[in-house]
Amino acid sequence: MSEFQPSPAVPYSMASLLERFIRYVQVETTADAESQLVPSTPGQLELGRRLVTELTELGIERVSQDAAGVVRGYLPSNARAPESAATLVFNSHVDTAPDCSGRDVKPSILKYQGGDIVLTNGLKIRANETPELSGLVGKTLITTDGNTLLGGDDKAGVAIIMEIAAHLAANPDFPRPNVLFLFTCDEEIGRGVASIDVPALGGTVAYTFDGGGSGVINHATFSANQAVVEFTGVNIHPAIAKDRMVNALRAAGHFLAQLPPEMSPERTEGDEGFVHPYQISGGVASVRLQLILRDFATEKLVQQETLLQNAAERTRAAIPGVQVEVAVVPQYRNMEEGLADEPRAMELAWQAHANLGITPKLEKIRGGTDGSQFTSQGLPTPNLSAGQHNIHSPLEFACLEEMAQAREIGLQLVRLWSREPKCHN
Ligand SMILES: [Zn+2]
Repeated sequence: MSEFQPSPAVPYSMASLLERFIRYVQVETTADAESQLVPSTPGQLELGRRLVTELTELGIERVSQDAAGVVRGYLPSNARAPESAATLVFNSHVDTAPDCSGRDVKPSILKYQGGDIVLTNGLKIRANETPELSGLVGKTLITTDGNTLLGGDDKAGVAIIMEIAAHLAANPDFPRPNVLFLFTCDEEIGRGVASIDVPALGGTVAYTFDGGGSGVINHATFSANQAVVEFTGVNIHPAIAKDRMVNALRAAGHFLAQLPPEMSPERTEGDEGFVHPYQISGGVASVRLQLILRDFATEKLVQQETLLQNAAERTRAAIPGVQVEVAVVPQYRNMEEGLADEPRAMELAWQAHANLGITPKLEKIRGGTDGSQFTSQGLPTPNLSAGQHNIHSPLEFACLEEMAQAREIGLQLVRLWSREPKCHN
């Protein structure tokens, strides 16, 4: 489709990418699922404010941070009339995972020489447990002191996108479509897209930079439903319970025993879906059981729901008097379904890699991303590598050269999309 064109006229030094990344990871932005605040923690607003300042200083237009902490910046197309040009959205999330502390992150930079990496507090990133390390000898890695996560998930993405913004602002002749820079909050607790009016973004396509390593395109995710099963029994003193007590706990046990163990996350991998009971609470009078239903094929979720309804029916028959109600709500959908509506999303992602001599690896995610939410709301959003490794852990590290490559892929996408009209048909 397109000839090979290295983006920068002068070699890119990576120094400002590294400097940005180091700065961003030192802002504590751990998401908090227990919080009712939007965003869930104030540090996300703080990092967002800094991004607003930096985008403004770069000369990006329409820079804003809304009440939910979402930061936007925009550059109109210089290749076509903005009304007829495609709008390319770059997205990453500023929050970090609650699984591991993100307070007082002390990033450490090293040229990787091979072998284990010993962190300041003595923890080791072991080469034999981290197979990708063998491919990173000679590269610049950023680790922590071993007491926190690093936050490369997804401040690597934030730094990559800010560097793309900086390059476009400094090179007004670099051909571009309309470009929207979008930084979201609380992705790690599933609320990244909740506060966003996705159609109002006006995007033709979006790419999240929120993946591991380099050269991977995530083009498929699970489709996901959540189920809540309520068991209602009758409680009465056990002394006088004969023929009167209806024990919701026994009903829940009966129900759970009917779920096929081979359909559990602990027994499935690859393309296989699962039904996963993950939380139970209650007593004799009532029990609330929460499950997640997952499959790459959305229609299989219907079969999973039928499985729950059948288990409920048999539980009612086995425990007379018990009420069992199954409620299922959709969570997100496999992005592959939405990507089919905008074939350019994957074609140009592929081409952007190919232009740099990279054969991308297509990988499915056994989970969801902000991209699955965007895609199901009409904005096709594959996920791209951002140099992340060992995420959500004190053993986390990021690779600077991989981040620089992601920046380069982003610039290729800008160039490729500059030629595209808003609609593909
Ligand atoms: Zn992430």
